[in-house]
Amino acid sequence: MTEDTPLTAKIRTLIERTGPLTLADYMQLCLFDPKLGYYVQGDAIGRSGDFITAPEISQMFGELAGIWLVSVWNRLGRPSPFNLVEFGPGTGTLMQDMQRGFARFPDFAKSFSTYLVEASPAMKGEQQRKLGSCDIRWSSSLDEVPTGPMLAIGNEFLDCLPFRQYVRSKDHWLELGVGVAESGQFEFVALPSRLGERSVKKDLGNPREGDIFEISPAREAFVETLASRIANEGGAALFFDYGHVKSGLGDTFQAIRDHQPVDPLLAPGKADLTSHVDFAPLEKLASKMGCPTVNLTTQGEFLLQMGLLERAGAIGRDKGVDVQSRLREEVERLAAPNAMGKLFKAFAFASETITLPGFERIAQSDAH
Ligand code: SAH
Repeated sequence: MTEDTPLTAKIRTLIERTGPLTLADYMQLCLFDPKLGYYVQGDAIGRSGDFITAPEISQMFGELAGIWLVSVWNRLGRPSPFNLVEFGPGTGTLMQDMQRGFARFPDFAKSFSTYLVEASPAMKGEQQRKLGSCDIRWSSSLDEVPTGPMLAIGNEFLDCLPFRQYVRSKDHWLELGVGVAESGQFEFVALPSRLGERSVKKDLGNPREGDIFEISPAREAFVETLASRIANEGGAALFFDYGHVKSGLGDTFQAIRDHQPVDPLLAPGKADLTSHVDFAPLEKLASKMGCPTVNLTTQGEFLLQMGLLERAGAIGRDKGVDVQSRLREEVERLAAPNAMGKLFKAFAFASETITLPGFERIAQSDAH
């Protein structure tokens, strides 16, 4: 049952006037309608919000990500000045934990300007409150980040870029969209146009009726632009997100409200909408744009190689059992295969042929 949120009424009117929406348009409206969008209203992330992300689970996540940036900067030949860019910073916790660590690396710390790329004014406000004392600039898209070498990072950013779904009918693919049923409820419908059919990968074996295939042109365009800038201007990027290393069939459209999965058509503007990231086309694009180093591994493998256990040991040394068991729990949540360790991936690319820390031993068997 679609709840009657203010955004429901707005989307219903739009559909009645112009026809069903693609999932990409539906998602864009639900997340970023200028007044009623989920991220525009704020309060999404954290213990009291709808979902908890890795930086909110543990300070160690940001600390290790910060060390990654410093060591990659060294391996790139210490470009200076450069732009440190975070995409979709949420509450600003990741940037705060990284900046605290940078104080130990003064040459690095004096070489960069920080840019936070954030589409939601409410999230930007939250970031300003948390990071007010740091010298930071905000922009609403990558295009506004000035040219020059760049070190970029993003956690759970790629998953909220809009995506499209195709369903297999007897002998062709139809794009799925959101329409309004007689009862006024939102429902999934096949869109009349078959234009998108060309977008579906051809090497999917023998798809069966009802199979779903997903693509995200927005995600691909983003990685294409970023990788091309990095290849030409120098630098590296690191992203964490849930998703798969091989393209495949399956419906990964999900909505989370109050830490629980809900129907994506239930409550427009009140739930987070995402889909799993298909990293295979993103890896190809980063190479194609000219980045000679492109790596993908699981978040668990990445964090363990970056020294998660050692860092937990160092923080917990001489502390009470309470702190030590909290740290153990954080390590489990971030890196254990049955928590975030395996489903979440770390994806990185760089402008030079270098060994990227955290990816030295790429866990082929695990990275599915
Ligand atoms: N990185 C944070 C937040 C993840 S939620 C964390 O790990 O906790 C996704 C974030 O990306 C939110 O801040 C959201 O407002 C932002 N976002 C989503 N789509 C965006 C876009 N197209 N451009 C810029 N920011 C976007």
